[in-house]
Amino acid sequence: MAMTERPRTRAEALLHTVFGYERFRGEQADIVEHVSTGGDALVLMPTGGGKSLCYQIPALLREGVGVVVSPLIALMQDQVAALRQNGVRAAFLNSSLSAEASREVESQLMAGELDLLYVAPERLLMPRTLEQLAGIRVALFAIDEAHCVSQWGHDFRPEYIRLSMLHERFPEIPRIALTATADEATREEIVERLGLDAARVFVSGFDRPNIRYRISEESGDARQRLLGFIREEHAGEAGIVYCLSRKRVEAVAEWLCAKGLDALPYHAGMPAEQRQANQSRFLREEGVIMVATIAFGMGIDKPDVRFVAHLNLPRSLEAYYQETGRAGRDGLPADAWMSYGLQDVITLRQMQAGSEADETRKRLERHKLDAMLGLCELTGCRREALLRYFGDVLEAPCGNCDNCLSPPETWDATVAAQKALSCVHRTGQRFGVNHVVDVLLGRDSERMRSLGHDRLSTYGIGSELDTAGWRGLFRQLIARGLLTVDLQGHGSLLLTEASRPVLRGEQRLHLRVQRVTAARRPRTRAT
Ligand code: ADP
Ligand code: ZN
Repeated sequence: MAMTERPRTRAEALLHTVFGYERFRGEQADIVEHVSTGGDALVLMPTGGGKSLCYQIPALLREGVGVVVSPLIALMQDQVAALRQNGVRAAFLNSSLSAEASREVESQLMAGELDLLYVAPERLLMPRTLEQLAGIRVALFAIDEAHCVSQWGHDFRPEYIRLSMLHERFPEIPRIALTATADEATREEIVERLGLDAARVFVSGFDRPNIRYRISEESGDARQRLLGFIREEHAGEAGIVYCLSRKRVEAVAEWLCAKGLDALPYHAGMPAEQRQANQSRFLREEGVIMVATIAFGMGIDKPDVRFVAHLNLPRSLEAYYQETGRAGRDGLPADAWMSYGLQDVITLRQMQAGSEADETRKRLERHKLDAMLGLCELTGCRREALLRYFGDVLEAPCGNCDNCLSPPETWDATVAAQKALSCVHRTGQRFGVNHVVDVLLGRDSERMRSLGHDRLSTYGIGSELDTAGWRGLFRQLIARGLLTVDLQGHGSLLLTEASRPVLRGEQRLHLRVQRVTAARRPRTRAT
């Protein structure tokens, strides 16, 4: 096979001869250069971005063994097997090895017969291993899945925190930490806990240009709109529909089937065989729609998923990015479609408030949910905002999200918001959205009269909007923190500090006009 380009560097030569790749991708070349010459690095790249080469090639270029810390025993074995196939002298040390196999690896290590050693963190931290490493030449330390140091993340590993001692014990040896979790808070925690202040940070490749982002608030029946979206734009194609609860997963899957689509449910409460069977139908057959909770997706690699739909609000931008990222892995056009409603915000806030977590963690989760809502309510480019959250920069609006394709209209909602907020105040902050809307619209009922709410000054002052319009307004007020929902009580609306300037007329409020059919894709397909 003829090589199309001559390698210009030793790194490129290794890329060709050992790994069989034509050229470095994205920032790989810069990262390899930086680490090979002894620099520390923090690499933030999405899954599948090509993080492994960023430490494998420097490990081969530098003298000594590259030590790779990884929490995932199964992946370790795969990586080592693949490296060996390419002729790299690689081995791993973890609890899956017999004492004998483990001694064998250690003697190879001590004899300088290894290029790469994969090791579980608890194993690396054993005094014996550390002493062995002190006696030989180490090319670098690579800390994979570095977000495991984050106490607030879902993958927290206490041993990871102790990895900071590598810096103290082996100050001369370069370290490269890698992760696909790239939000600011996690990044700061990694730098702080691993003592990576001097590390160069590489953030790249989070953009998925072929995915079209579309987010709309629930107006009318979200299921019905989902059905329309699938029929009009993705008939016969594979997709994933995410729902928050198991019950909703089953109801939606059943409903889609009744409408003639090939939909299957997937959630952790189903019998394992059933789940397995549904998963393999989704993977093997064409055009299956998987209706699932977030339990579905980890490790699923199906390239031609044409859409990912959310019927509920994800709890964070990380989750949204990860879940939508399962669409269009083949690089062809794909849709990330979402419909969310007021109830989602309330449910997620309730779940957070009711959890066992401590105050700090709850605050962080609230913040993450707010960031998610911020993306929903945005009037500018969704992609730009999403990438900015992960530290990745988009030079210009993307032209491939709903807001870019049809910029949302905004309206001056100040007066309506004042009416809504004062109605909450007049009814004593003891009622939920439905009742307050009824008061605004002047609905007559026995309950209304027995409460005396038909005599309030805010009774019937809201004729400018209909029920859906008022509900939408309340949703946006809640999303913006101008109202909160009393989670201990029965979902009563409460005023907040932030509602005062609006009530007093010191602050105007511009909100997006709700649109039901955002950015329909005019699509011409070959078949
Ligand atoms: P990550 O660890 O970031 O999830 P990997 O290192 O496993 O990603 O790489 C993902 C895939 O991309 C692998 O199949 C890998 O072989 C491939 N890959 C990585 N770098 C390159 C490259 N420069 N050229 C071609 N393929 C690459
Ligand atoms: Zn855009």
